[in-house]
Order: sequence, then C-alpha cells, then structure tokens
Amino acid sequence: MASTQVQSFSMPGVPDEEEVEETPVTRIAIDDSIDDRVSAIIDKLGSVKSSSWDEVRGVLANLDDLDLGDDVLERVMHASAAKLHFWADEELIASCCEVLKARLHHPQSSVQLLDAVEEAELCEASGIQAVARRRSSKTSVGSRSSKGSRCSKSSTRSLCDSTSLAFKQVATDAKVSADIMKTSKAESKKENMILQDVAASRLAQFKYALCFFVTFQMVIFATYEFYYTTPKTWRLIGLPVPVARGFAYGACFWTGILFLTMSRDFLSLLARRPCVQRSQLLMQLINCQKELHIFSSWQVLLDSFVHTLAHHIGTFTALERSTAEELNEAFVCARDPTELPAGYLGKAGVFLKSFQYPICPLPANADIGYFDGVFSTPGITGYLLLIVICLLGWASGAKVRHAHFRVFYQFHHFLVPAWVTLLVLHGANGWVGLGFPLVILVAGIPIAAYTWTRSRRAYLAWLCPSTVLAAEKSMNGKLVRIEVQLSSGYRKCNVGEYAYINIPSISRFEWHPFTISNSKDDETGGQLITFCIMSVGRWTQKLKDACAGHAFPRVNIDGPFYAPTVSMPLHSMVVGIGAGVGVTPFLSFLGSLAGSQVSQERQHAHVFWMSAWATDFLLFKDLFAQLETQGGGGHTKCHLHATPRWEGRGLGCLFDLASREIWNDWVRRLAARSSETVPTFCHYPKPLHAVVSGSTLESETPLVIVIGRPDFVAELLAIGHADLREHVFVYCCGNDSLKEGIQTACVACNKHNESSGYMQRFYFYHERFG
Ligand SMILES: Cc1cc2nc3c(=O)[nH]c(=O)nc-3n(C[C@H](O)[C@H](O)[C@H](O)COP(=O)(O)OP(=O)(O)OC[C@H]3O[C@@H](n4cnc5c(N)ncnc54)[C@H](O)[C@@H]3O)c2cc1C
Repeated sequence: MASTQVQSFSMPGVPDEEEVEETPVTRIAIDDSIDDRVSAIIDKLGSVKSSSWDEVRGVLANLDDLDLGDDVLERVMHASAAKLHFWADEELIASCCEVLKARLHHPQSSVQLLDAVEEAELCEASGIQAVARRRSSKTSVGSRSSKGSRCSKSSTRSLCDSTSLAFKQVATDAKVSADIMKTSKAESKKENMILQDVAASRLAQFKYALCFFVTFQMVIFATYEFYYTTPKTWRLIGLPVPVARGFAYGACFWTGILFLTMSRDFLSLLARRPCVQRSQLLMQLINCQKELHIFSSWQVLLDSFVHTLAHHIGTFTALERSTAEELNEAFVCARDPTELPAGYLGKAGVFLKSFQYPICPLPANADIGYFDGVFSTPGITGYLLLIVICLLGWASGAKVRHAHFRVFYQFHHFLVPAWVTLLVLHGANGWVGLGFPLVILVAGIPIAAYTWTRSRRAYLAWLCPSTVLAAEKSMNGKLVRIEVQLSSGYRKCNVGEYAYINIPSISRFEWHPFTISNSKDDETGGQLITFCIMSVGRWTQKLKDACAGHAFPRVNIDGPFYAPTVSMPLHSMVVGIGAGVGVTPFLSFLGSLAGSQVSQERQHAHVFWMSAWATDFLLFKDLFAQLETQGGGGHTKCHLHATPRWEGRGLGCLFDLASREIWNDWVRRLAARSSETVPTFCHYPKPLHAVVSGSTLESETPLVIVIGRPDFVAELLAIGHADLREHVFVYCCGNDSLKEGIQTACVACNKHNESSGYMQRFYFYHERFG
C-alpha cells in the first residue's frame, strides 16, 4: 500500500516561480488522504526530464496506487498550471484533466474533446451565437453532477469560443530566406552613413550631420574671432589660438546638445507639432535623444582636451616668453574700449571682472610665466571642468548606471550645474574671445529649456500634489497598477507618454519615470491616469508596499513627456511589441482604441505582449474585454505570449502536454475547414500552441495565451500581407536584445518585400526603459 511508502513532496498551486521552486522538500509517509496522494504525484512529476506523455507515465508508474480521482487530477493539474505561471481557469483545468486521464490510461486513444463538431461549426459561423451558447452552457455546467462530462463539455465550449475569437489575421506562406536573414542581421547592427533600409537606425546619419554642422561653425567662429577681435595674438601665440577657440566653441555647442536632449518639455512640445509628426526624419531624430546625449558627452570630452592642449602649447608658453606689455597689447580685455571692434560684446565691461586672475590689463612690471597660466582663473576652472566631465562620464558608464542608478543620478544633479557655472567663469579673464561667456551665447537656449523643465518639477511638487485613487497587484505581486487623479494644471496626457512619479514618503528627491498606460477624464474635468509598475528595485518595491493598504501615499507627478509611441495613432498599420512591463506604452495605445470610434477607421493594430508570468495578463483583463466587445476589436489584435522560464522539465509538463493536445485538436478541426484562419504561430518552423481561457474575463470573452516567444519575421510578414498597400510601423519597447531581434525582423521583411516587388516597407521605432 502507498501508506507505507516514504515520499518527498512540495506544496502545489503556488503561482510565483520562485515560490514554487523554493518550497522546502519534506518527506512524508503517503496514506490514503487526497493531500498525500496529490503531494506524492507532484513530487514524482518534479523529476520529469523531458516533456512527453511516455515520461509522465514512466515517472508515475512506480506509484503503487494510480487510482487518479477527479479531485486528485484537478489539484495536480492546478499545480502544474501554476508552475507555468498560469491561473486556475476551472474549465480549462477540467479539459486538461480529461486529456490527462485519457493519456494515463489509454496512451494511444484519440481524445474526443469536441463531442459535438456541429456545435463548434455553429459557433465559428457566428461569434454572437458562440457567446450565447457559452452563456447557456455555463448555466448547465453548474448543474452537472459528473465531472467527467463537465470536462468534455467545457472543452467543447472553450474551443468553440476560441474559434469565435477568430484570428482575423490571415496567415501567409511567405518565408524569408536564410541569406536575407543573415544580411539583415548584419545590417541592423551596423550604423551606416548611407541608410540601407528604412528600418535601420539613422543614428549614424544624425551624428555625422551634427559633426559636420559643428565643425563648419567651429572654423567660422575661430576665423572670425582670430581676425576680428584678437588679430595680434597670432604673432604672440600662433595657430594654437584659433584651434583653442574653435574647440571651445565645439565644447559649448555639444554642451547645448547635451542640455537640449535632456529638455523633456521642449522635446515634447516639438514632437506634438503636426509638421514634426509628419516627418519620419524629425521623429527619428527626437527618438535618438538618448544616443545623441551620450555622443555629445564624448564630443565635449574630446573638444575640452584639444582646447586644453592648445592653450598649454600656445597660450601658456606665450605667457612664459612675453612681457606684460606685449601680452596687454595682444589681449582683447586690455584694449582701450574705443578701439574694440563693433561685434565685441564686452564693451560695457567684463561682468565677471571680480573673478579675473591675474587681472587684465596685466600690471606693467608683472613677471608672468607658464604657471601663471596654469593657476589663472581659466586654468583652474579648465582643470575643474575636465574633472567634472570625467566624473560624469564615469558615473554614466553602463556598468555604474545599471548597478548604481542613484550614483549616476546624484552625480548628474550636482555636477551639471557645476559644469555650466565653471564654463561661465572659465571666460572671466577675457584674454581672447567676445567679452561674454561663450557657453551662454551658444548653449544658453538649451540650458534655459532644461532649467524650465527642472523648475516646473519643483513647482509641481510643491503646489500640485496628485492623489492615488486605487492600486491593484498582479497575482505574483510583481506588477502594481495604480490609478492617479491629477490635480489641475496638467496638459492632456496622450497615448504612450510617460511621467515622473515622486512619493515624498518614500524619498523626497527621487523621481522615477513610468509610462502612462491609460488616461481618461473624470467627472470633474480632471484626468485619471494609470501606471503599471514592475517591482525591480528599492523604490518600486517600497511603492508596492506603500500601495498595499487602504490609505495611499501622496504623489507628485511631473509630465507628461513625449515617448516614441506617441506617433502610433498616426499610422493605419501599426505593431507594438513589449516585453514584460515594456508593454505599457502599447496598453496605453490599446486603451485609447477601446471604445473609440477612431479605431473603426484604423485598419490594423497589433500589440504583442510577452511576459514570463501569464498571470500578469490578468491585470489588464478589463482592457482586453473592452477591446473584444467594443469598437477596438475590429482590426485590433492583442497577442499575449506567455514565456515562462521553463525548459520542458518537471511538474509544468502536465499542463503543457494537456493544453497542447487541446490546442492541436482545435487547430486540426479549424485547418480542415479553412487553413487560412489557422494562426501564424501554428506555421512557425517549430509551431507554438496556445491556451484558451474561457472564464476569466467578466465580459465572458475567452482569452488566448500563446505559450512561447513569437517569431517576429513570420508575424510581421503575416501582418503586412493582410494589406500590402500600407506601410507597417513597428514599435518595440524592451532591452537591447529584443530591439536587435525586431529590427532585424523589420529589415528582413523589407528585403523580402523588395525582392518580391512589393512597395510596402516596415519602419522601426524603439523605446527603452532606463
Ligand atoms: C521613459 C521610461 C518609461 C518607463 N516606464 C515604465 C513603466 O511603465 N513601468 C515600469 O515598471 N517601469 C518603467 N520604467 C522603468 C522604471 O523607471 C524603473 O524600473 C524604476 O525607476 C526602477 O527604480 P527602482 O529604484 O525600483 O530600481 P533600481 O534598482 O534603483 O533601478 C533599476 C533600473 O531602473 C532604472 N532606473 C532606476 N531609477 C531610475 C530613474 N529615476 N529614472 C530612470 N531610470 C531609472 C535604471 O536603469 C536601473 O538600472 C520606465 C523607464 C523609462 C526611462
């Protein structure tokens, strides 16, 4: 008897992966109780090495008593589903149990899941009939006493309903050749000066264009200054003067770009202009903001070094060689104001005079040498500037930024104002130059735009606190959805924009960016916005805890700001691809479609959401239900892909095997009627299977969750082929490897279309969190 055996087991039905895996293994003696039987089976299944029925049977074979009652089966199946982070949908579990029973006792039999094919056909013919049938069927399920009959009937219902979901997208047989894939991979990685493909990055072009633009200006500025304001320095110092001046201009120009790319209000304002939105080039330029920011900082560093070197070689050695009288003759600050050229800005007197060291003009008997240059105001501020830029560069490195974001954040906050202040003081001596701080002339407007962004944040934090109205956690507790009521004074939030959140009770000075996943007006004319926040670190963890009770903390909101997804509603064929919490910009887009009449006009909108935890999808079940039942459902498709970190081993195999069979059964029947309506993922070289959950949404619309990663080349081709007259705009939000994969897919689709003679092109946009 089983009661004499000693078995190890882990507790079933825990949704979180870590919890499932970390549950301590306890050894118990099996008796006849259901609990022990369930535990023993779960424990045994833990040792499955590869997902197959033979292995499952083999593993369970040495359990003495395999009298698997419905209750036992159901609980084991629940635990198996939980292992794959799937939720307990009773109908689905019942269907899986049916398959399991058949496979354990009758290995070769074909499981008749659809006991009434006509019923399925009827349902497929009419989605409305399907829902009506399901509703009536639901009532009858409740009154059934036999679980066996419930299993087969409910599976009929789920499958039948899933046909009503109808994968409206027509699968295509088009395949991209291996050669095209290879060249696409190489091309999407490279930064090409000449753009090879519309989906490839234009970053290289922007960088070259900016470099060319600034080099041209550096030459003009150096020549102008040299000949116009300080011609006498040529005799004294020579070539290093125009070189130093040119590179000083370069450093100030790139400083301007650094500030401009951080001026969120300015960029948002620009991106909202219809003329900017119509230009692919300008939108891509705005989207490259982070990359250009990093590039500018390298340019600042380079220009600063060349500038320093030129002064050391030229100016400081000239100080050593020349007398005070000769120097006074050459320095523009020492000239008689009446002799100053018309364009000289310091005529009214150098306003930084009190910071001049040594003073200008130099005393007639002054003994000036090399080290007077080193320890002069421009010398000391110059070294400090180099230290500041090096510290900023170190703190901004990928390693420090990812591991210690707060160090990066604080360094920026203290050192950026120091950088500007030192640059202003650097020109205090006015030996050469225009008599006015060059940085203010060249980078003044970007600095003002950035200062506006920061000051507005301080104003909002002080005077416009917002209120958290509701908070909801996902089943595994990692994702929190909070609804915030904005105080008055905020601009209307658009689809895909993001805002910074500050919660003084967590940290007074920390502001974290989050995408607005939904926005609507409340009765008072104010705005209600929703954020979907993943707990990844200290602050987000504390936010989750702070929103756990009934009394929610005070929040300050700074935003909304532009993000690439903002242009999504402008196109008629769009694809949004988000991994994990990266889906939030696209949920926002879906939210705007749900119930909107505009969506009727939209031709095709597809959103792919990949999450390791299928349970995360439930947090937005209201949105999915709305999409299916309202206008947004027309041509809008949300492709939910559960990607559990699971290698086909252990307990999860039971749910995987059973749900796969249910799905295969449905696909067989569907293919028999019309191969065109079989979803694209069934045509992958390694087809995926899906799970249809029928009792999850309040609207009673079934949810289809595909298990596994999408093949984006196949998916994008299928989406594009639905209407070859339209270009496809692909938006992706995720890490660099996801970006690379999708960009490659877009480039490959473009090449494929080009070789097939189609005009359709795939455009690619990327957004990154952090
Ligand atoms: C435009 C944008 C939109 C975003 N939208 C979402 C969203 O909708 N949902 C979501 O869950 N997450 C979103 N994020 C990411 C989110 O901002 C971070 O996960 C969060 O700030 C982490 O803070 P932490 O202290 O908990 O984690 P930490 O462990 O301190 O940081 C984890 C990582 O988050 C990033 N990060 C941390 N603090 C900041 C900050 N103040 N500003 C920018 N990045 C930071 C860094 O890359 C860091 O390596 C978004 C990020 C950006 C830039």
